[in-house]
Amino acid sequence: MRLTRLYVDGPLASGGLLQLPAAAATHVARVLRARDGDPVVLFNGDGREYESRIETVRGTRVAVAVGAAHAVDRESPVALTLLQCLPRGDRMDWIVQKAAELGVTRIVPLVSRRSVVKIAAGQADSKAAHWRAIAVAACEQCGRNRIPTIDTPRGLDEHLGAIGSAGTRFVFDPDAVPYAADARCGHAAAPVALDFAVGPEGGFDPQELDGLRIAGFRGVRLGPRILRTETAAITALVWLQARFGDLRDGEPAGPAARDPR
Ligand code: SAH
Repeated sequence: MRLTRLYVDGPLASGGLLQLPAAAATHVARVLRARDGDPVVLFNGDGREYESRIETVRGTRVAVAVGAAHAVDRESPVALTLLQCLPRGDRMDWIVQKAAELGVTRIVPLVSRRSVVKIAAGQADSKAAHWRAIAVAACEQCGRNRIPTIDTPRGLDEHLGAIGSAGTRFVFDPDAVPYAADARCGHAAAPVALDFAVGPEGGFDPQELDGLRIAGFRGVRLGPRILRTETAAITALVWLQARFGDLRDGEPAGPAARDPR
């Protein structure tokens, strides 16, 4: 059975009655055509699922009886931060959605020298809010109970200046030397957190690659072809999850999401 998952931006109290905010209520009433008594799962990003029930649907006003909370972990064992130089058009929306499904922990949207997209002053916060909404919808769909963090866009140089040089870091670069078939990439144990950078359509410029290397980013080449930036971001994430995260061979099976749409 398809179980609807709804994100609630705020505290959830088991045993309480919750009036859904207007947008969620309209979706539940009009699109999902929910009825009194239908089961729903609520989550607010605290790592738990609240097994709940629609109490009443009156027009587009929906009240939900919040039920028992269960901790359900569908997070990767490694915290993955994607440093994504902004692509053209609405490709960032696509990257945010797919990266959220694949378990990214944080996305830092970056403006680099060859980025065609520039973010006007005053637009950065609304862009970030738009991407956060996409990440939330992806979590509703894919069963994550933690919402990835989406930073406000900033310059690549500014970001590198702020992070120091410690930590496990990779820069995806078509000109990097092919990686040795060492499953741990030279690391004794799988890292608990890592950052990875993907360039814009025009790639990183040589100075940026130097800056990334100085900040400890190791170059990785993803095969012999040039991928579009959005293909590279998702391939990189899958590559990292397969080496260090929850796509590894032998990764114990966790609870699968019950609502594949
Ligand atoms: N003309 C650019 C291509 C950029 S592709 C150049 O030659 O550098 C956009 C971004 O996707 C790159 O900056 C890189 O981060 C990533 N990318 C694309 N293909 C890749 C590959 N084969 N290996 C690693 N990264 C790749």
